[in-house]
Amino acid sequence: MKNHEHLFMNKKNGWNTENKDKIFSFCTGYKAFLNKSKTEREYTRNAVLDAVARGFKPLDEIDSLSPGDKVYRENRGKGILLAVIGSEDIENGINLVGAHIDSPRLDLKQNPLYEDGEMALFKTHYYGGIKKYQWTTIPLEMHGVFAKADGSTFEVSAGGADDDFTFTISDLLPHLAVEQSEKKLKEAIEGESLNILVSSIPAEGEDIKEPVKLAVLKYLNENYGITETDFVSAEIEFVPAFEVKDVGFDRGMIGGPGQDDRVCAYTSMIAAFEVEMPKRTAVCYLVDKEEIGSMGNTGMKSRFFENTMAEICALLKKDYSDLTLRRCLSASKCLSADVCAAFDPNYPSVLEKNNMARAGYGVTIVKYTGSRGKSGSNDASAEFVRDIVKAFDDSDVLWQTSELGKVDLGGGGTIAQYVANLNIDTIDCGVPLLSMHSPFELSSKLDVYMAYRAYFAFLNTEF
Ligand code: MN
Ligand code: MN
Repeated sequence: MKNHEHLFMNKKNGWNTENKDKIFSFCTGYKAFLNKSKTEREYTRNAVLDAVARGFKPLDEIDSLSPGDKVYRENRGKGILLAVIGSEDIENGINLVGAHIDSPRLDLKQNPLYEDGEMALFKTHYYGGIKKYQWTTIPLEMHGVFAKADGSTFEVSAGGADDDFTFTISDLLPHLAVEQSEKKLKEAIEGESLNILVSSIPAEGEDIKEPVKLAVLKYLNENYGITETDFVSAEIEFVPAFEVKDVGFDRGMIGGPGQDDRVCAYTSMIAAFEVEMPKRTAVCYLVDKEEIGSMGNTGMKSRFFENTMAEICALLKKDYSDLTLRRCLSASKCLSADVCAAFDPNYPSVLEKNNMARAGYGVTIVKYTGSRGKSGSNDASAEFVRDIVKAFDDSDVLWQTSELGKVDLGGGGTIAQYVANLNIDTIDCGVPLLSMHSPFELSSKLDVYMAYRAYFAFLNTEF
């Protein structure tokens, strides 16, 4: 018997069939946005600018809502919720895509500046899960804010593409690294040795104990108007000073820092920008703090999401009560838009070949995350997976399924479980990455484009 092809699930490399021009042109916008959005604050600021340019209005400045209206609400400058109001009753639920805009990085401690060996350095405390050795001997750039005593906020950005200088963390020369090389990878570089070199010229004509530190303080005072005490009320992040770039002769991949999870944030944001007159209200929520457990008032666990949905419900329903919000949430559907591990030919043993994501095979649907027996996973229901697959198939979205590595090896979590706790059907779905959490993460342009198509299809789906 022939023609039994249809009995098999047949997944193929999308580059053989998809329109390369559309993919490349979409990714040009993605790279440009990433290069100017290196922190959650910068991402939010640029998202607001683009949202306003596309007709989104600040939710807190309007007094009524009707179908087709586009609104946004910022959360403390570190997150943003975009909504396109649907024609259906809000109690029938919303279609929500949630992604995070914080990424692994090095944060400055509150008292960071010191001098040692006639060099001035900053103490850091790393943020999120990093392989510490990857963050030494690479150029680093400084981004963040000082909240000054006079009530103003001063934003800084230094050591990146706009400057002719950068920063770095030194590492031991191999000649003297015999002891270091014997250590386990995770212990070879200690958290307390991730100190960033910031200056080496002592202040002129000053007879004090720490002349290099003084020179730095003078520089900071002249250029930023701050004193050492202002570091206490600052949020300063050091990120890899790499521009996002095409990778390979064929330019098929994109390399750069912060793609987890700004790749899903950008693709879902553009999808939300392009939604017009949906049946169900379409929402894109970009949050902070996923990399440290979704904690705090800017993370997914914050009441900000419920509060904002309550405001939207109240603007739509004259007889608003708490039940309106509860009914809305219970009937809602969510794609937790986050990245997943892609097959890496250098490390083939960590993934299980039937259930791993491949770069170039499209957006990946991850039914469950978690580790050690799905622990910490929301594990989406079969019915919801079916609905998502149908929505993607109906819109010719190239999709695959995967899990994060072999069963006993690793795992991880996303915002999915916290959204699901609101009684919302939720599933993870995003772009597969190589070198995730490294200073130079890799994505396939095809998957980036497919994520955008997938989120757009989902936001417009009638459940
Ligand atoms: Mn992520
Ligand atoms: Mn991550």
